[in-house]
Amino acid sequence: MKKVWIDAGHGGKDPGATANGLQEKDIVLKVSQGIQQQLEAEYEGVEVLMSRNTDVSLELSDRTNKANRAGADILVSIHCNAAGGSGGFETFRFTNAMAASVALQNVLHREIMSALKPYGVTDRGQKSANLHMVRESKMPAVLTENLFVDVAKDAGLLKRQEVLHAIIQGHVTGIANHLGLKKKEETTVAKSERDINVVSPWAAPAWKAMTDQGYVDGSRPGAPITREEMAVMMSRFINNQHK
Ligand SMILES: [Zn+2]
Repeated sequence: MKKVWIDAGHGGKDPGATANGLQEKDIVLKVSQGIQQQLEAEYEGVEVLMSRNTDVSLELSDRTNKANRAGADILVSIHCNAAGGSGGFETFRFTNAMAASVALQNVLHREIMSALKPYGVTDRGQKSANLHMVRESKMPAVLTENLFVDVAKDAGLLKRQEVLHAIIQGHVTGIANHLGLKKKEETTVAKSERDINVVSPWAAPAWKAMTDQGYVDGSRPGAPITREEMAVMMSRFINNQHK
């Protein structure tokens, strides 16, 4: 069972960046909860643990201490940006990051930018910085900065549900790829599989008539027929014609 730690930035008394009627703490909580739901729903052998699942205040050290104690396999810290000119998407690893953090950043950055492609989001690149969340996490850790709340174009995008879904999808695909997670079996096959012991409505009258006349024994109406069974049915039919 792989453990993924998702850290929704800010919260409670700390709203993070605010502009254009948006609060960073609300957006990153929605995105984090979406990542948790989708990863656990679509992939086998993964558990998603969260720094916060509500609007509460947390110290940075609380977040990394909890993730380290839980023995998480990777940590992704979710943020939105501000005060950055033309807006866009960027990711951070620690300045002296381990190779696995670089690998995680590569796949996350690629998948999120790919999911955001239809929306013309600026790629600000893969960066490194001496940030608490990526420095103090013992496991591979990346911080994503998902658009700028104070840039009009980005704020407009962050207000669209489909854009939040794209951000969530990019994180989910990136994390799943990095950890080599296996998709759950599709359930559509099981759903469409019929019960061979129940007659289909369209065939019910004919099935009853043939059963009453002794051509079939009335069992397993949905089972395939063999050539022998067909021969028996035909001989019953022919015998009936001669009565
Ligand atoms: Zn932030």
